[in-house]
Amino acid sequence: DLAPIRRALLSVSDKQDLVPFARKLAEHGVTILSTGGTARALKEADIAVTDVSDVTGFPEIMDGRVKTLHPKVHGGLLAVRANGEHQAAMAEQNIEPIDLLVVNLYPFEATVAADADAATVIENIDIGGPAMIRAAAKNHGDVTVVTAPEDYQTVLDDLAAHDGQTSLATRTSLAGKAYARTAAYDAAVAAWFARDTPDALPTHVTLGGTKALDMRYGENPHQAAALYLTGEKRPGVARADLVQGKPLSFNNINDADAAFELASSFDPAAGPAIAIIKHANPCGIAQQETLEEAYALALRCDPVSAFGGIVAMNTMLTGTAAAKITEIFTEVIIAPDADDEAKALVAKKKNLRLLLTGGLADPRTAGHAIRTVAGGFLVQGRDTLEAEDINLTVATKIAPTDAQMRDLRFAFKVAKHVKSNAIVYAKDGATVGVGAGQMNRLDSSRIAAMKAAEAAETAGLDQSLAIGSVVASDAFFPFPDGLLAAAEAGATAVIQPGGSMRDDAVIQAADEAGLAMVLTGVRHFRH
Ligand code: 5GP
Repeated sequence: DLAPIRRALLSVSDKQDLVPFARKLAEHGVTILSTGGTARALKEADIAVTDVSDVTGFPEIMDGRVKTLHPKVHGGLLAVRANGEHQAAMAEQNIEPIDLLVVNLYPFEATVAADADAATVIENIDIGGPAMIRAAAKNHGDVTVVTAPEDYQTVLDDLAAHDGQTSLATRTSLAGKAYARTAAYDAAVAAWFARDTPDALPTHVTLGGTKALDMRYGENPHQAAALYLTGEKRPGVARADLVQGKPLSFNNINDADAAFELASSFDPAAGPAIAIIKHANPCGIAQQETLEEAYALALRCDPVSAFGGIVAMNTMLTGTAAAKITEIFTEVIIAPDADDEAKALVAKKKNLRLLLTGGLADPRTAGHAIRTVAGGFLVQGRDTLEAEDINLTVATKIAPTDAQMRDLRFAFKVAKHVKSNAIVYAKDGATVGVGAGQMNRLDSSRIAAMKAAEAAETAGLDQSLAIGSVVASDAFFPFPDGLLAAAEAGATAVIQPGGSMRDDAVIQAADEAGLAMVLTGVRHFRH
């Protein structure tokens, strides 16, 4: 059992809840040491404080760069109380123990988020704070470390329950939090230094994040889950405003991300685009003259799957579009913005979540894509290649018409966002059939064709929507069969990477079927 906490060092940038906490500590008979600004705040509240400079016998120097970096502080934090040699060293050097450390760090992340200049950002790298936090956490057998105001009450409750001391379980848990904090802090610092080389894959990858949202559960109810924010400022689901609706679930966020990334890749200058997503795959997307037209065509593509879907767009949600979208059960709408009429309409559906991002996610912004594997994680550059940036070569005798060419690029753009194997049929700026996630390309091709036929039936049309469409494949056709299935379904033009050993056979089959085919030379796997 430890003696009660007698001496605490408080040094905090975020002074939230500081005064009431310090007052309670003082009531427990704790002597409070403190640094410049923190000491001032406590003195103003009439709480007795000893300045750290009086303990160290050294003034705070260099604009606060050196305040607590001193053996009188670090010795007091690191000395093991039951170690005779440590005790002797303390006695010899006149070092007194520090039993409780309360530190939160210079607001580095907030300074970066506020677009401060480099000198200001650098001045906000805390040096002494992390050093003390790490020292106290290492010595958690004897020392309690607190790195966030949210833990003040835990400590007070513990002190009350354990005669002015904390339990080892609490100290251990706080030590873990402390190292997670300094790790996330340094991750943010590392990310800032790497800001001009977002594509680089360094030796050590730091995944700093701060919890923004606890979720009831993860992908399934028996899995715990939370959302963490990194320093990335690209607009998207993580930082979007939940204007209304139930709290977001893990699957909502995952799907809303897929939806918004897809919608964002369509330039609003070329017309409003709207995507409907289920299980991270598009059930339909269209880019038209108006948002309502785009929604109607996106919905037409697969109205069965669209039920309970996520809807994303590249322009402001208007009242007219919201009226259409709210006609069927939709889980989430995500948009850069919404007008008042749209907000009022959406508000009538209590459970429908409306997320506003404030802008579009530029698909060409470099960054990392990360996935865990057993024993590690995979990191790759984000797939920033856009259909507009690709040089297409015509491989067949027939070249596509201008209208087909527009749809071919549209379909390939969509295919990038469909789980492989991806086959996308499109016509007049709208998908008409999507085949996703199959283990062979022929099955995806058949499923997409089947969907195009079903969608036509639902729409009361007498022929498949695939008739006269174009078709995109995310990777090359290894055999002519997938391509022939598309021709049979009614596609008249094809876009695909090419590069198969059997390209000649595939091109010959396209010619024989009277198809126009362009090759991209690049693929868009997405697994
Ligand atoms: P105060 O507002 O009390 O003047 O400063 C509190 C902040 O100073 C805390 O965020 C703490 O982490 C930081 N800090 C404490 N000691 C040192 C030090 O020796 N060097 C630096 N750079 N920061 C320190």
